[in-house]
Amino acid sequence: MVQPARHIANVKYAIRNIAAEAARLEATGMKILPCNIGDPLRFDFATPPHLVEAVVKALRDGKNQYVASAGLREAREAVAASMQPAVRPEDVFITSGVSEALDLVLTALLEAGDEVLLPSPGYPLYNAIAARLQATAVPYYLDESRGWAIDAEAMEASITKRTKAIVVCNPNNPTGAVATRAQLAGVLDVARRHGLVVISDEIYDRLLFSGTHVPTATVADDVPLITLNGLSKAYLVPGWRVGWLAIHTPKLLKDVAAAVQRLADARLCGPGPFHYAVKPALEGPQNHVPEVMAKLRSRRDLMVSRLNAMPGVSVVEPQGAFYAMPSLTREWAGGDEAFVLELVRETGVLFVHGEGFGQKPGTRHFRVVFLPPEQVLTQAFDRLEAFLKARS
Ligand code: PLP
Repeated sequence: MVQPARHIANVKYAIRNIAAEAARLEATGMKILPCNIGDPLRFDFATPPHLVEAVVKALRDGKNQYVASAGLREAREAVAASMQPAVRPEDVFITSGVSEALDLVLTALLEAGDEVLLPSPGYPLYNAIAARLQATAVPYYLDESRGWAIDAEAMEASITKRTKAIVVCNPNNPTGAVATRAQLAGVLDVARRHGLVVISDEIYDRLLFSGTHVPTATVADDVPLITLNGLSKAYLVPGWRVGWLAIHTPKLLKDVAAAVQRLADARLCGPGPFHYAVKPALEGPQNHVPEVMAKLRSRRDLMVSRLNAMPGVSVVEPQGAFYAMPSLTREWAGGDEAFVLELVRETGVLFVHGEGFGQKPGTRHFRVVFLPPEQVLTQAFDRLEAFLKARS
């Protein structure tokens, strides 16, 4: 038996790992109620037709060749103009989703043994990439008692000589929390004083229930900052693999940008025909967004009222995206992974365990995706309630 590289054992991605167990149960004939994966297209949401037309036209017009490794010029220009504040097109790279943007940025920045501060709970891809690079993922815990707020003071206490970067995710997956300008200013201040790069994942920036999103780049312009975003979520095309990174402070990140360019060159380019959707997405009609949010709002409200009425469960109301991170306030033998597995095996209701996103030691959570329609959510919460009652 050939052995894989040892550090790959640390590359984990709970969302898909737990889905494998659900697929096994489904193969035995069990009906699964999927509240686990952040793909709106699995439910009653549809891609805006003008984006499909733009890609079909590109395919028909023979735009099937490699594009520049940093992406189609027209797409880079549209992204550059859409950023707040605007950046130069040459400071934008179009990537295979935010996933690849993160990969390029972290690979360009981190050496083995370097440390990167990651939100906890947070999106597990950050940890997976750090593990692959043999860098150390250091959690900064979000404060559940203050709506999962970022606590810059606690973050600062974790900084060492090896710390290179801070990742911010706003709105956050899995909590649905939206950071305030003051919280972001706190992060930027820490980064400024310790010479760190800030990487701001803003993929859910348009999916807010109220208020306006504060792009990290609008808070300060003297801290090295890279923003990540893409089409997957707000434009309802996760399978197209279109994302981007924008370098806001090119003077401070000149060599990092050159490293990203080398890495991008080495993988040739992203999926070119799909780059033709970027300009129509960013500059065309946006009326699908309020429609999506109207559906999500009633699903969120249903989820919050059902979960907060259940003994042993408490949830902070999400302010954006389509995720929530309820706390399991009672002990559960085997922790929250055992809880999620028992629940899916007995009821077919599929959540992801909190530990897969990181959480404060001694706490237990599970992540709910509230994309499914009300009748599916109602059925899921009925089954969860009965499951908890049977064990109280
Ligand atoms: N960042 C966050 C916070 C996410 O939740 C996701 C997907 O769920 C991604 C990045 C990956 O996005 P993409 O489909 O653009 O690779």
